[in-house]
Amino acid sequence: MYLSVMEVATGAGEMSTKVTCYGGVGEIGGNKILLEDRGTKVFLDFGTGFAEGSDYFDSWIKPRGVNGAGDLFEFGVLPEIQGLYSEPSLQNTGLKYASPEIDAVVLSHYHWDHAGRIGYVDPKIPVYCGKTTALIHEAYRVTGGSALKGHELRTFRTGDRFSVGGIDFQPVHVDHSIPGAYGFVIYTSSGPLAYTGDFRFHGPAGEMTEDFVRAATESRPAVLLSEGTRVGEGKDAGVNTSESEVLSEARRMVKESKKLVFSTFRGNDTDRINTFDRAARASGRTLVVSMKTAVMLEALSKDGKLTVPRVGKDVGVYVRRKKSGSLDDSDYYAWERRFLDEGLDAQEVRKRQGEIFLHLETSNFPELIDIKPERGGTYIHSATEAFNEEGEREDALVRNWVDHLGFSYHQLHASGHAPMEEVARLVNRIRPKRVVPIHTEEPDRFDTFSNGTVDVPAKGTAIPV
Ligand SMILES: [Zn+2]
Repeated sequence: MYLSVMEVATGAGEMSTKVTCYGGVGEIGGNKILLEDRGTKVFLDFGTGFAEGSDYFDSWIKPRGVNGAGDLFEFGVLPEIQGLYSEPSLQNTGLKYASPEIDAVVLSHYHWDHAGRIGYVDPKIPVYCGKTTALIHEAYRVTGGSALKGHELRTFRTGDRFSVGGIDFQPVHVDHSIPGAYGFVIYTSSGPLAYTGDFRFHGPAGEMTEDFVRAATESRPAVLLSEGTRVGEGKDAGVNTSESEVLSEARRMVKESKKLVFSTFRGNDTDRINTFDRAARASGRTLVVSMKTAVMLEALSKDGKLTVPRVGKDVGVYVRRKKSGSLDDSDYYAWERRFLDEGLDAQEVRKRQGEIFLHLETSNFPELIDIKPERGGTYIHSATEAFNEEGEREDALVRNWVDHLGFSYHQLHASGHAPMEEVARLVNRIRPKRVVPIHTEEPDRFDTFSNGTVDVPAKGTAIPV
């Protein structure tokens, strides 16, 4: 299926301003929202959906990197739009390379489900993002790959405005489970619209989301694009653990433990890192993070608006074993080498297991075979509970590891997303003429709480503003 933006623009009547969702439709994540206004074309996010293409691909059958966007076009995972993709992405596809017809990608925050497909986008197309997102990109570029590939980054903070063609953007910070997350009030020739990105009110910076709600309300938007991750039956389960509750629970767990405490959490969630750093210190322990997370913390320490623990002073660094196991420079990547002297290896963690709170991604669990922790320790799973088959499978593996070690398993997490009643409160405070539910599995449910009209999007079908 070949779809030219120009054809859509001329063929779909004379809508001067419109939004078309190519992802995030009836699914969580994968936001790819095309905004067109009098010849200006901007993508709001260009992410990877969690379930995108999952009827054809999984961890065994993967799209071939060498085939660019071809394997993803085959199943409609990426839209076939002219003037959007890089030349290598289109090499083996029926879509011919054309110089950019899209003016920009505006990125709300650096989560994979919002940024993950930008690597296919022509690097001649600039990416607008928060200053913090640029630092996160820099850290990932060093440690093994960023979603952004040589695109020019044009950065902003709250209070800035920027224009792309005839469209004006007012970015306003929101609280989310990664720093540098924004919503946008967008001024088009047909009036304002607002885009929430991902948000919550129950994190340490909930007032930032209030700032966005105020700005969006004042603009009196015709259309509100709102996320609804936790909108739906059973997605709430009546609990809305806050980050401060995670802190008090973690403090208690660490205090009660005399053995190793280890935890799985996202290395770019600085709220969680600060929480566990504080919980560890309260019992005289040290948080020890992976080398990759250490690079992230160092990058984010350059952000004057963020507070993060100092690597080597507040938090330690875990050096995982490589080839020879001798901590020989030649076994490690250049960016890892500077951690070899000060970092802790498995033997040191074993010696000091009662003094450490260890951050360990599930992919690094085999390190536990070297650490050989004493039985009776504590494991904290600090991430979203499994919401699909693949997640359930991973969860079962984690539990097997924890049982094998003779550790206790604890689930402790504050979601990055607002629960349904708070999404409802946001929608009804902003009072848009129409709300377009995205990033949700149950868009129809917005009808049950919205005081205005709900426009449930269909993938690839334009909605007039
Ligand atoms: Zn997110």
